[in-house]
Amino acid sequence: MSTSANGTGTAPLLARSVRDLREIIAQWRKDGASVGLVPTMGALHQGHMALVRVMQEKVDRTIVSIFVNPKQFGVDEDLDDYPRPLEDDLAQLASVKVDAAFVPEAEMIYPAGFSTIVSVSGLTNFMCGKERPGHFEGVATIVTKLLLQALPDAAIFGEKDYQQLLIIRQLVSDLDIPVEIYSAPIERESDGLAISSRNRYLSASDRRLAPALYATLQSIAKDAVENFNYRSLESRGIEALLEAGFEDVDYFEFRDAETLELALRSDQAKRLFAAAFIGGKRLIDNVAL
Ligand code: AMP
Repeated sequence: MSTSANGTGTAPLLARSVRDLREIIAQWRKDGASVGLVPTMGALHQGHMALVRVMQEKVDRTIVSIFVNPKQFGVDEDLDDYPRPLEDDLAQLASVKVDAAFVPEAEMIYPAGFSTIVSVSGLTNFMCGKERPGHFEGVATIVTKLLLQALPDAAIFGEKDYQQLLIIRQLVSDLDIPVEIYSAPIERESDGLAISSRNRYLSASDRRLAPALYATLQSIAKDAVENFNYRSLESRGIEALLEAGFEDVDYFEFRDAETLELALRSDQAKRLFAAAFIGGKRLIDNVAL
């Protein structure tokens, strides 16, 4: 592996357009460097930094994209309120020696007349796909665009958004996009809450209750070692979350780790997935069994 373009910990190269991005990458390619992309919506935290660390092990040059993708937000969702602390984000990227940041404007990504949507069927039919109509089309469209804009050797996604990870693997395979997709485990706060850019919007009392999501996933997953009646365990999990103070549970389900079909058998590789609301904020999490 060659030394980083950013070996000194100075600010990453900043690309504000696809043209800038391609110029930077073309130069790296000339130097024979391999390139990895870490797509994010910014408001960077330790979860994002974990993806960066994995990518830096895999490739010579790492780019982090920061783009709050309007197409993946529903009409009632928090697009306008989504945090955009760009200076802090760039400082964090400098501190871990990321080589470049790609920070495009929405008008450049979706100019007037933009008409293409990438839609992955099957995997999007349930869980967050069912509860957030259009969300995964927005994700699939932006990720396809970012991969074609950067043409990286590798890209990485977090298991925090496990359904998204599988959808991206599917579209990369279906569309023959020549990129290696890596994943990284969920980074958590010390009390177990999965780190998320949206956690900052939890009130102090909701923040204290929020770790119950992971605790419940863990405790029900533990019970599933001996009890294979997954549907009744799921009902118990939902009850436990409501008792803990969550006001609504979108889903709490054992599903196959590859197809995401509802888990039926004890010999299947599975994960337990949950999405639940606390103080009007929707949290998601999952654990492997
Ligand atoms: P986001 O900025 O929320 O769109 O997330 C960008 C990438 O970071 C996605 O691949 C997420 O799955 C991943 N990610 C977000 N939170 C975490 C976390 N707590 N642990 C690991 N990866 C995460």
